[in-house]
Amino acid sequence: MDRRNFLLAGVAASTTGVGALQSIRADEKSVWENNFEKARLRFACYWGRLFPAESDSDRLEKMRSLGMEAIEISGNGEALKPKKQMFDDAGFEVCSISVGAGGGALVSEDPSRRQSGIDAVKKALENAAFFGAKAVVYVPAFNGVTKLEHVEIRKILIETLPALGEFAVQHGTHLVMEPLCRSESWFLRRVGDAAQIAKETGSEGIATMGDFYHMAQEETSDMGAFIAGGKFIKHVHLGNGPQPPKRTLPGEDDRTFADGFRGLKYIGYDRFCSFECGVHAPDKLEAVRRSIAYCRAEWERADVWHG
Ligand code: MG
Repeated sequence: MDRRNFLLAGVAASTTGVGALQSIRADEKSVWENNFEKARLRFACYWGRLFPAESDSDRLEKMRSLGMEAIEISGNGEALKPKKQMFDDAGFEVCSISVGAGGGALVSEDPSRRQSGIDAVKKALENAAFFGAKAVVYVPAFNGVTKLEHVEIRKILIETLPALGEFAVQHGTHLVMEPLCRSESWFLRRVGDAAQIAKETGSEGIATMGDFYHMAQEETSDMGAFIAGGKFIKHVHLGNGPQPPKRTLPGEDDRTFADGFRGLKYIGYDRFCSFECGVHAPDKLEAVRRSIAYCRAEWERADVWHG
């Protein structure tokens, strides 16, 4: 008898009134089991990065040979609109548009600048609809982009994001806040904090994500971070830890991924894990191939946590 069944048996054998507790625990177990079955490890990478290619078709073919299924776009998506048909014809989904912070205008200390920040995010959300992308990755405040303090930035977001969230819903996508490490953004560093902001907006269009590189520096537990993010997790970035050479391919240092992948299994994550890291090996394509094999092995290793 494993530990959970032992506990359930103990509950069943005790007084009346705990039968309901037993059924709640059984329901929770089935949610976890269903989420483990639903979860998928699906790879993506930024268009034009990670490995060299002789042409667009060569790049798509190499991505296919790696088992990648989706493309992430850097910027607001406008520049790559002419390539949408090519992506569609090749069977690649555009999973996300990584728009950055838009200069931090949305949370500027100058209220007259904020509308331009809102408009920049809306443009990226419109382009996400054009591509069918389910995520626009957004950094609320890189260090130094605003003179406002944490509480003031958060207040602006809670006031502003609900309408942007509804705009995202109308366009079939999500505005995904990305927590970063402290050297890049003191304001938003923990996945759970971002999920709480998303929750307070009350909009299904506001979400968050986890980036393994940043999480290595800010989270006490990869698994705990993704579970805290829960239903608000709509995107994942893959990259190693901060030690030199920092932020390289998964599998190139002692940063492990099974714990984080276990968290993704617990929440039934089936969206994309997109490589956002450098590649230092001479044969970049082979290095990415090895890293994908490493990630698949870590995914298999990410069984139920027995504590
Ligand atoms: Mg990232």
